[in-house]
Amino acid sequence: MTTIRATVAAVVDPEIRVITIDELGILRSVEEDPTNGRVVVTITPTYTGCPAMDVIQADIRRALAAAGYLEVEVRTVYTPPWSTDWITDAGRAKLASAGIAPPSPVRHPDPVPLTLTVRCPRCGSPETEQVSRFGSTACKALRRCRSCSEPFDHLKAL
Ligand SMILES: [Zn+2]
Repeated sequence: MTTIRATVAAVVDPEIRVITIDELGILRSVEEDPTNGRVVVTITPTYTGCPAMDVIQADIRRALAAAGYLEVEVRTVYTPPWSTDWITDAGRAKLASAGIAPPSPVRHPDPVPLTLTVRCPRCGSPETEQVSRFGSTACKALRRCRSCSEPFDHLKAL
């Protein structure tokens, strides 16, 4: 059973290629119906406007087909809505090492809104500024580091 889940969990996000859908936190469940061998995969889409979900569904089907599972149903669930808080620690580390600043935590107990610092993924400097609301994809904002003057993508918190 774990093998099926591992197969699906290893599918890489088509937009942020360094991170798997499991690390991104969008993989809800993988279940095999023992009576007919049908595999039901449940995922929660990320940012609306990201056209990646069709690609992810196709990639899930392809990965399972390669493992011998041809009867596959991919379900999408919208509640509770996906949040960048669902990205795992391993996923955040991979984003950082790929030069993408991980999103800031969305939910924090402090009722006073804080201006959260986005650190440069290259040199770690908190002195960064937003260059554009949209980076290489709609899910990312383009920022620049004032210390090393390198531009980098920031995965928007949601
Ligand atoms: Zn820097």
